Amino acid sequence: MKIRLAAPLQPDSIVDGAGIRTVIWTQGCSHKCKGCHNPETHDFNGGYEFDLEDIKKKIDELIGQDGITLSGGDPMFQPEACNEIAIYAKSKGLNIWCYTGFTYEKLIELSLKKPIYKEFLSNIDILIDGPFVLSKKSLDCTFRGSTNQRIIDPKKSLETGNIEVITKYDKKVKNEKKECIFI
Ligand code: SF4
Repeated sequence: MKIRLAAPLQPDSIVDGAGIRTVIWTQGCSHKCKGCHNPETHDFNGGYEFDLEDIKKKIDELIGQDGITLSGGDPMFQPEACNEIAIYAKSKGLNIWCYTGFTYEKLIELSLKKPIYKEFLSNIDILIDGPFVLSKKSLDCTFRGSTNQRIIDPKKSLETGNIEVITKYDKKVKNEKKECIFI
């Protein structure tokens, strides 16, 4: 299987999720968020095509990483390939964070026609959902760009049928900017 990425794997990030992470920048996004920081990742024909077996070899070579972060672009436009990466990385002891411009609710709706969405969600440890909204931009929301975006435990959400929002990363802003927490 192939995957289209915007760039080679980027190890040692400390801003794309908790701990030291390797970011996989997927290519392709149609959300058109005003103020997007990565417009070069929008073109579905842009970037580079990689064989998943080569991505797995790169994952094997990683040293000192806590997890993988799937970002973009939007990984949800390549759910089959991203799911395979998530499964492989997890088998190597890495946790999985994923950023998407879709809301969790929309992904569940999409899964009714394409079950891969639910399967992929079940292999993600932390999902940051929703588009970047320029008018809600905030530097206080840990690991997110705007206050509408949520940090979600997708596996627990699938189990309970509720949207299980994680607030532990909001500790620093708890008393300063409640809108980051109560969204
Ligand atoms: S979802 Fe992300 S990559 Fe896509 S337009 Fe919005 S901010 Fe940019």
